[in-house]
Amino acid sequence: MKRRQFLKTAAVGAAAGAIASPAIAQSMPEVKWRVTSSFPKSLDTIFGASEVLAKAVAEATDNKFQIQVFAAGEIVPGLQAADAVTNGTVEMCHTASYYYVGKDPTFAFGTAVPFGLNSRQQNAWFYHGGGQALMNDFYKKYNIYSLPGGNTGCQMGGWFRKEIRTVADLQGVKMRIGGFAGQVLQKLGVVPQQVAGGDIYPALEKGTIDAAEWVGPYDDEKLGFNKVAPFYYYPGWWEGGALLHFFINQAKWDSLPATYKSILTTAAALANVDMQAKYDARNPAALKRLVGAGAQLRPFTPEVMEACLKAANEVYAETAAKNADFKKVYDAMVPFRNDQYLWWQIAEYNMDTFMIRARARG
Ligand code: CA
Repeated sequence: MKRRQFLKTAAVGAAAGAIASPAIAQSMPEVKWRVTSSFPKSLDTIFGASEVLAKAVAEATDNKFQIQVFAAGEIVPGLQAADAVTNGTVEMCHTASYYYVGKDPTFAFGTAVPFGLNSRQQNAWFYHGGGQALMNDFYKKYNIYSLPGGNTGCQMGGWFRKEIRTVADLQGVKMRIGGFAGQVLQKLGVVPQQVAGGDIYPALEKGTIDAAEWVGPYDDEKLGFNKVAPFYYYPGWWEGGALLHFFINQAKWDSLPATYKSILTTAAALANVDMQAKYDARNPAALKRLVGAGAQLRPFTPEVMEACLKAANEVYAETAAKNADFKKVYDAMVPFRNDQYLWWQIAEYNMDTFMIRARARG
């Protein structure tokens, strides 16, 4: 009875006056941050991750910690988001780590590498396989602390104006594709092109480029590629599970009270799950509409896939020989991936395969 009375009194005390107490004031200060996204608002699934995070943080802190969201170009261009975090222009950004492979190829592992991890495996590696600690160790060079913040799932292999039946068909194909995947395809005769999202459609239409990869059905549909390049290839083996990240300026992260660090970490995890869920929920209908509008689905043949895997392994070996950070992360990721697929082939693969066949039978 005494204990209950004490608790009751304490609760009343907390409600009446404890908000002004130093401990609480210190853990819940007014903080205003800006997050610059690498993405336009039109990519609502990816851009939306910043909004999901900001809303969750504001709600959990009674609006004491506010994060204002800016689309690509509003503060800095999309591909300069990480620099804006490094130099403290903004407190944080939402971006794809692999946009910065020009600075160091090690950045690729933050998002996706050819024949790397799928989205479930990316989460397993980052949260429980040492991936996040390894990458944060690397990002420290750039004053960045990172939190996983969304995934597209396995992407499509892109839109081609003509069919790719053999490895020889890749020769001379001008394809809009960046980073590591571009280097891999270059070994097979593809000519990688850097083309901004909004310029892909006219380039395909004019024939300036022969192929382009973007994301998957939900995002690709908005850009209308099916009208100018009907062959829709899969899978996008360079992005088996493209993970997005929140990059946070290291000093700004260090300055947060423990409560806010915890809330921000939880909000990023929510955004991470939420994006993949949106893509998974929306892709089937988009795929049906695309096929209805003339898109012709084509798998990359086993011959093409094998040649790409071989070329990817060559690029990995060449890069690891020149870059110790890259080698360190690659040497950690590969055995993790191989063990993941050892497990995947048992329950997940068989369950999925059975259900896919059962659905096809009706
Ligand atoms: Ca892509």
